[in-house]
Amino acid sequence: MRIYNTLTKKLEEFVPITPGRITMYVCGPTVYNLIHIGNARPMIVFDTFRRYMTYRGYEVDYVSNFTDVDDKIIKASNEEGVSASEISEKYIKECRKDMEGLNVLPATEHPQATREIPEMIDMIKVLESKGYAYKAADGTVYYRTRKFEGYGKLSGKNLDDLESGHRSEDHALKVTGSEGKEDELDFVLWKPRKEGEPYWDSPWCEGRPGWHIECSCMSKKYLGNTIDIHAGGEDLIFPHHENEIAQSEAANGVPFAHYWMHNGFLNIDNQKMSKSLGNFFTVRDIAAKYDLQVLRFFMLSAQYRSPLNFSDKLMESAGAGLERIRNSVSNLQDITVSGADGEMTAAEKESCREAERHMKRFDEVMDDDLNTADAISVIFDLVRLANTTAANGATKAYASTLRDSIVKLGEVLGLVFETAKGDLDEDIEKLIEERQAARKAKDFARADEIRDELLARGIQLKDTREGVKWSRI
Ligand code: AMP
Ligand code: ZN
Repeated sequence: MRIYNTLTKKLEEFVPITPGRITMYVCGPTVYNLIHIGNARPMIVFDTFRRYMTYRGYEVDYVSNFTDVDDKIIKASNEEGVSASEISEKYIKECRKDMEGLNVLPATEHPQATREIPEMIDMIKVLESKGYAYKAADGTVYYRTRKFEGYGKLSGKNLDDLESGHRSEDHALKVTGSEGKEDELDFVLWKPRKEGEPYWDSPWCEGRPGWHIECSCMSKKYLGNTIDIHAGGEDLIFPHHENEIAQSEAANGVPFAHYWMHNGFLNIDNQKMSKSLGNFFTVRDIAAKYDLQVLRFFMLSAQYRSPLNFSDKLMESAGAGLERIRNSVSNLQDITVSGADGEMTAAEKESCREAERHMKRFDEVMDDDLNTADAISVIFDLVRLANTTAANGATKAYASTLRDSIVKLGEVLGLVFETAKGDLDEDIEKLIEERQAARKAKDFARADEIRDELLARGIQLKDTREGVKWSRI
């Protein structure tokens, strides 16, 4: 597997710290609102990375946080007249629903900042004892940026450029109260409590942690001092990830993450998504109009680092593509029931070898920095093969091999291609219920008729003590 590493700015062979295991941290959303479709991009692409690596035999420890204390949350709590934790708990619940709709697997751990405050205080204490943190007159604890030698190594920014940038923002900084900083480049680790804000006790003052320390801490607690991969959207490279590196490496004395992966941004009709432009969509807005599988399919139709443009037209074409795959799978499904019994023909065996070559190519393109765009083309190659070779006369064995291949690759991408199954299951349950009713009414002829009808559809019934169980033949 080759991964583009933002830290080295190169495509690199992925070598995990522990063979067969991957430790991965993905910065999660700030929960003050329903998540928008931009937030869904890192969720979908890194979930796909996780699924793919799992498919390749790795055990993936995947941690993704919820930022549940932040200015925006406090603002929302004041606006809605409820506590900050009510806001964050509400939107964490909503976010989990959206993740389920997007078929994003729950992380191994979803830590929340407010539940990790003692660990953050401990880390700030270590930074203070090593001379990387200091308390200003107003109680704010700052990170001494210039003391960390590697500062700028992720974002490629140099301290002097940053300094002159800051000087022009001097006025703004004064207004927001940055007095007491030793250096304009220093950033906040702990901020003193303000009226109406949530706060915790600390050795410095009552207050709350800065945003960057959260991720340094939670990554350390759940995955260890050095992890394989740290990921998030490209807007997080600076300052968030740069600051996380400075904090973690100064405190722990070892490299923080070996690989840094960043997804490109999602734009709307070639414009930045923003509330003020009126082109801001939550995942919930999209769910009202489309199947969320179409959104996932659309997101994966681009490689994760490229910018991605969202429009109704592109979503419709994604929907049509997904439909084509689903139709093909459904045809194959029919043949697995009505097709010819017995061994595959020689031509079919040859086509199976071609299908295997496609499956191998899927791995190759995914190994190339998770090229999901090409992976989807490979799925279309399989669909084309199925549509041209699996007609009515095909064997059941051949149709089920092709169906399983396409469905499997879908699963690796978190895409569900067997849509009919849900309806079909409901149908089957209904017939089984009818058969039970017939038996109760001693209408054995009807009960047998239903059993035979199901058998013809490839469904075998088994009467057990717990009731009737069914399976596909
Ligand atoms: P936030 O809640 O703003 O901290 O964002 C949570 C995650 O979503 C981060 O990884 C961001 O980089 C990512 N993100 C936010 N907006 C977009 C966007 N328009 N396109 C892609 N990723 C985004
Ligand atoms: Zn983070």
